[in-house]
Amino acid sequence: MFGLMQSQGLMISSILKHAARHHGSGEVVSRTHENTTHRYTWRDVEARSRRLVRVLQKLGIEAGDRVGTLAWNGYRHLEVYYAAPGMAAICHTINPRLHPDDVAYIVNHAADKVLFVDSSFASLITTIAPKIADTVKTVVMLTDADNMPEVTLAPGMTLACYDQIMDAADDDYVWPTFDENTASALCYTSGTTGRPRGVLYSHRSTWLHTYAITMPDLMGIRATSRVLPVVPMFHVNAWGSPYAAALTGAALVLPGRHMDGASLATLMNAERVDFTAGVPTVWLGLLQHLRTSGEKLTTVKRIVTGGSAAPPLLIEAFRDEYGIMLEHAWGMTELSPLGTFNAPKTGQAGLSRDAAGQHMLKQGRAAPGIDMKIVDGDGKELPWDGVAFGDLMVKGPWVASAYYGDEPGSTLTADGWFATGDVATIDADGFMEITDRSKDVIKSGGEWISSITLENIAVSHPDVAEAAVIAALHPKWDERPLLLVVAAPGRTIDPASVLAVYEGKVAKWWLPDEVVVVPELPHTATGKLLKTSLRTQYKDHYLKV
Ligand code: AMP
Repeated sequence: MFGLMQSQGLMISSILKHAARHHGSGEVVSRTHENTTHRYTWRDVEARSRRLVRVLQKLGIEAGDRVGTLAWNGYRHLEVYYAAPGMAAICHTINPRLHPDDVAYIVNHAADKVLFVDSSFASLITTIAPKIADTVKTVVMLTDADNMPEVTLAPGMTLACYDQIMDAADDDYVWPTFDENTASALCYTSGTTGRPRGVLYSHRSTWLHTYAITMPDLMGIRATSRVLPVVPMFHVNAWGSPYAAALTGAALVLPGRHMDGASLATLMNAERVDFTAGVPTVWLGLLQHLRTSGEKLTTVKRIVTGGSAAPPLLIEAFRDEYGIMLEHAWGMTELSPLGTFNAPKTGQAGLSRDAAGQHMLKQGRAAPGIDMKIVDGDGKELPWDGVAFGDLMVKGPWVASAYYGDEPGSTLTADGWFATGDVATIDADGFMEITDRSKDVIKSGGEWISSITLENIAVSHPDVAEAAVIAALHPKWDERPLLLVVAAPGRTIDPASVLAVYEGKVAKWWLPDEVVVVPELPHTATGKLLKTSLRTQYKDHYLKV
């Protein structure tokens, strides 16, 4: 017997309709490319998104078509976020920091018909235009007529100005309803190994993810919140914050391309931001700015950090020097992205300051809706004792079942689990801690050593700005840890003193055999350490000595 409740499809347009009708005067503030401040309301976002649908229709976009974006966090980008899925097309956000060949590959793989492009990427689009001309018919620059940049396209492609085509369109569109499993957005993984792969979200998965992340034990976003996503809208939908702000009626503050510490601090204070989210590199930049300028963050209460492990120093510095909690979240493109969040349970109430600090390093417990487990090499589940580490598997309604273009279910095990490629422990309270990417774990004499643990300890040394630990081949132990470090500004690194900080913190056999001081470390387009390139360069290091 079926229940007798209204059956309403979970449409992304109804998130926006809710914002416009129930939080109509809620603010959306953007720093523009020209460094001016643009302000409008959720009511305006909804009306302009309907207008944008009329523009998309004029450009030949139909249901199921991919609409690409190469853009920072800003209000015009937000309009594409809602207009494309609202008409059953797909908003395809592209990471402009990738190599131009990868950007062209992604555009062609997704077969984007139209690209919406920020002025910052005028030369990128000129570079790749000849490679994407078979696919992309129109490039729309996200600016006004006075600020149109120089762009050269390939024959057959048309250049347009966003504000001009918007001014010429009507906003008489009425949001349709259709199957909630319809694809809504597409985002490619950053591709540290092999070609980037597309993750195709649905209206339903986006709704459920949005509901979950706004909960108090996750991002805890509410109508009075003022939310600043530093994480780019081209990186897994800015972790869902553009949807979460609309659903709750929170103010959304979009920083554009201005993501250095000084610009962020100014914007956060001016716009009374209380909640922000981004990767550790951004918070290190902000911390450095606060320390050198003496500026304080007057309204920020919570910072969510994810994307890579937050070094203990960062968490301690924000807590002890600024009274701001840096909260650890874990996720991935394939998870929309949120999988876990480190919010305390009653069991954490009596922890000492040190133990609480240690606990904050964990990536957290499963979001409601997500299940997780760790398994050994044979797929056997490992105990939740905070010690055993194995491959992290997840399942849930906002976890990918296949990559774009592949058969549904093709990324899953026979019993429906998704292998994250991360290695983790889970403790008795259900808190997960990432110890490695499975490709990065060091296998020494048959035992596993966590590279992240060793990196976190290395950066606690005052002379070390950044550290990477990789598995280098070893004649006796198969692999041994090799530590690469970058000196903090104005400091010189003494390798012996770096090794001394490991004393008493890890088993002796975990100690890196050698410390190599390097001028800089390579990063991926999303700011993660690019260990594949370090391994290529250093994997034979111990074989040579
Ligand atoms: P992406 O799909 O680009 O968001 O990358 C996802 C990967 O980033 C995960 O599989 C993890 O390896 C890593 N990651 C994300 N969040 C964290 C975190 N809080 N701590 C450590 N690694 C993380």
